[in-house]
Amino acid sequence: MNVTRRSFLKASGISLTVLATGLGFDVAAAQAQGYALKLQGCTKIPSICHFCSGGCSMLLYIKEGKLIHLEGDPDHPTNEGTLCPKAASLASVAYSPDRPKNPKYRAPGAKEWKDITWDEAIERIAKKTKEVRDATWVSTEEVTNAKTGQKETVTVNRAEGIAFFGSAEVDNEESYLITKLSRLIGAPYHEHQARI
Ligand code: SF4
Repeated sequence: MNVTRRSFLKASGISLTVLATGLGFDVAAAQAQGYALKLQGCTKIPSICHFCSGGCSMLLYIKEGKLIHLEGDPDHPTNEGTLCPKAASLASVAYSPDRPKNPKYRAPGAKEWKDITWDEAIERIAKKTKEVRDATWVSTEEVTNAKTGQKETVTVNRAEGIAFFGSAEVDNEESYLITKLSRLIGAPYHEHQARI
């Protein structure tokens, strides 16, 4: 008899259910009670998966600041309670010991990355942005007037050395702020990973 992994799990699941029922256990009730006990005292927070642009909705169950359980939101029209494996394993993103918690900096020529503070990172990004913006600023451009055929100089005010590149990890509010910032500093190149 050829026993596959799937048929074995199916058969053993059925056997356990039959055994439990034979012994007088209500399996469904026990499962429901276990689920309820796990979530007891948790605050339920609706959220959106950040992994891709699908926008699936999740329910997060938090107790004492810690994520206890997460599942797809059955009332959300996008995923109707389902989650793909990436979202289902999201807790490991929050609690993985490998998750970087500080900005990192590698000096020119250095082999090692070192942790820096957020203030240091923001300061450095601001300085570099100013430096590149000043060095690559284009204030005017010569164009041909479509009606007259004459060359003329028009104001463009572009920071051509800077580009913004969004990702699926960027939510609506962040996208809004990134767009504002790029327009504010005159960066003309503004793209999203999903279009590439
Ligand atoms: S659950 Fe999966 S499909 Fe849905 S948004 Fe997250 S990564 Fe995308």
